[in-house]
Amino acid sequence: MAFKSEHTNFVLIPFMAPGHIIPMIDMAKSLAKHGVSVKTIVTPLDAKRFGSVIERAVRSGLSIQLLQFPFPCEEAGLPPGCESGDCMPSYELLPNFARAINLSQEPVERMLKELKPRPSCIICDRHLAWTADTCNKLDVPRIVFDGMNCLAQLVMHNLYKSNICESIFPMEPFIVPGLPDALEFTKLQLPDSLNPGPIDYGDFHEQVRKTESIGYGVVINTFEELEQRYVDEFRKVKGGKVWCIGPLFLCSDDKLDKTERGNQASMDSDRCLKWLDGMKPDSVVYACLGSLSRMSLGQFIELALGLEASGHPFILVVKTGENSSEIENWILEDGFEERMKGRGLLLRGWAPQVLILSHPSVGGFLTHCGWNSTLEGISAGVPMITFPMFGEQFFNEKLVVQVLGIGMGVGARIVTHMGEEEKPEARVTRDGIMTAVERVMDTGRGGNERRKRAKELGEMAKSSVRVGGSSYINTAMFIQEIAELSQSKQ
Ligand code: UDP
Repeated sequence: MAFKSEHTNFVLIPFMAPGHIIPMIDMAKSLAKHGVSVKTIVTPLDAKRFGSVIERAVRSGLSIQLLQFPFPCEEAGLPPGCESGDCMPSYELLPNFARAINLSQEPVERMLKELKPRPSCIICDRHLAWTADTCNKLDVPRIVFDGMNCLAQLVMHNLYKSNICESIFPMEPFIVPGLPDALEFTKLQLPDSLNPGPIDYGDFHEQVRKTESIGYGVVINTFEELEQRYVDEFRKVKGGKVWCIGPLFLCSDDKLDKTERGNQASMDSDRCLKWLDGMKPDSVVYACLGSLSRMSLGQFIELALGLEASGHPFILVVKTGENSSEIENWILEDGFEERMKGRGLLLRGWAPQVLILSHPSVGGFLTHCGWNSTLEGISAGVPMITFPMFGEQFFNEKLVVQVLGIGMGVGARIVTHMGEEEKPEARVTRDGIMTAVERVMDTGRGGNERRKRAKELGEMAKSSVRVGGSSYINTAMFIQEIAELSQSKQ
């Protein structure tokens, strides 16, 4: 069935944090490859970060436009340029950031009203609660994009529905009711909305919760074969309107796109790949804890010394942020970097993660279990060492370790809320890290089985986005449904 361009004209509104906008930029490319004309509304900072990726996509013939709106830093009491969750000089500014998010409604709405042709749908990040009101005013179907997988969605849904959290003690293990597997958590392992931290976000979480179901449907960055039973159950919850269209990052094979994914890599990618070229296949542990996690010095030391004690070669990403000078001082005084020369590579700032994970020398991924990182590890066919920290990361750990059987945990017991990095109860020990690394990198029966399963899942992930694969078909069906809806409205 052929559709006029005005019926396949989608607008994307990402949330302003790397883990949210990166998959939405990938989504823009994936939809455009299916013939959709895509406009993505971003802040000036993100326009700079993603400008060259989009320019390359446009040069290759895709119809994608980045539209900029002024992010209201000043009005919300944020320093100039503080336009993304990873740019905050201190997490004390998180309430201001939440305020700026809400103040974004007005300038974005103004922009949307002037768009010609009218969008056939708007795909909005779940955390932008005001988009429910905006889509309603403009009478445009709202599609919710939630950075989580179907397992995590279903866990949250069942936790709210059952009210189980109201009757349990913080450290009391409980099984989430109504899931395909017996997944056990404690309350202290749950996301902020059910297990609040020290920062007062006002009614931010409540607004998100109230508006997350308002809309025509949901698109998810996952593939069906990965978590079919959870996809099926979640579809029932959403009345069928769930489209699994990932892994979105596999939409591009361009080396530059992988290098510049989300930000400029801090180190010459070729130097990093050359270092990996010198290592044996499947021998290196890549350790990176995402774009937002800020580690205390004490936790960093445990991580570094745990990697050292494991005896395996490693790449360790050291984030720049609030306490980076403390960490750098320790690295220097302890002589860690010098001692690890030839076996351990420290990457400062932003790592070219997707490039690194796809290198044949990488045999294990020590991850904080952010969903993008987890999906990137799965797609690369690499077993994982899981170190969940906040958000829904404990759910993702369960998917990796218990449901898929492709990882081992370092022994993280409770969420480290933003701003609570110094809390000793949350600290993971060097022994925990060393043991999990040893078990994942082990070449005995357990390690080999895990590795084999991880490689099989990696192949499935790649097949799902190829022509005829499940995510390819879901993307096409999603576009067709929206186009028909838009046509019928006219
Ligand atoms: N990322 C990267 N280099 C880094 C840190 C992160 O490329 O040094 C990318 C990573 O590949 C992933 C995203 O940033 O796509 C992080 O998203 P995720 O959901 O894993 O975690 P978050 O940062 O949101 O906690």
